Amino acid sequence: MSFPDPRMIQLVMSLRGGGVTDMAVLAAMERTPREVFVPDRFADQAFDDRALPIDCGQTISQPLIVGLMTQALKIGDRDKVLEIGTGSGYQAAILSKLARRVYSVERYRTLSKIAEERFHGQGINNIVTRIGDGSLGWPEQAPFDRVILTASAPKRPDAILDQLKDGGIAVAPVDRGHEQILVRYDKQDGQITETDLMTVRFVPLVKGVAKAM
Ligand code: SAH
Repeated sequence: MSFPDPRMIQLVMSLRGGGVTDMAVLAAMERTPREVFVPDRFADQAFDDRALPIDCGQTISQPLIVGLMTQALKIGDRDKVLEIGTGSGYQAAILSKLARRVYSVERYRTLSKIAEERFHGQGINNIVTRIGDGSLGWPEQAPFDRVILTASAPKRPDAILDQLKDGGIAVAPVDRGHEQILVRYDKQDGQITETDLMTVRFVPLVKGVAKAM
C-alpha cells in the first residue's frame, strides 16, 4: 500500500477550501498525479494550486478551476464527455475517472501525442483523442452527455452546444468584454439555459488546426 503524498493532501485541502465539495471529484483528482502532466522543469510546482506553462505556449489549468468545472458538470459513470483542448491531458485524465468515455480534441499535434502517451502510462484507456479544430466539436461522435471547453470561446459556442444531448450540461469560459466568464449551459427540451459561475482566465480558443507542430 502506498501512502498519499503530503503535497497531494495539501492540494486536496485547498480544493475543498475553494469550494470543491463533491467527493467523487476530489477522489478523482487525488488519484491523478499532476506531476505527470507538467513539464519536467515544473515538477516541483505540480502540486501548487496554480496554472503552469506547457509546450506550444499553452497552459495546464489551475487545479481549483479544474475541480470547480468538473464539479459543475455533475458527471455520471455512463456519460460520454467531450473536452475541447486536451493540452497536458490533466483535465481529461480526471474526467476519465468519472465518465464512461472521454473524447478530447486538441489543435496541436505535439500536445495531443504527449497527452496520449501519458494516458497510456497511467493505464487510462477510456480517452479518445483527436487532432483537429474543437470549435466545431466532434460531429462524428455527437451527441454528448457533457461538454467542457478548456479554451475561451469568443461567444456562446453554439456549434458545440448543438452536439449536447437533451438533459446535458456544458461548461465553457466565454469572453465578455475584457473578462472571461465561466458559463454553465443546461439543455432541456432543446432549450439552453445559461448560468454565470465565475471569472476565469484561459488561453483563447483558436480556429483551425495548428500549422506548426
Ligand atoms: N485541458 C487542458 C488545458 C489546456 S489549455 C489541460 O488540462 O491541460 C487549452 C488548450 O486548448 C490548449 O492546448 C490549446 O491548444 C487548445 N485549443 C485552443 N483552441 C482549440 C481548438 N479550436 N481546438 C482544439 N484545441 C484548442
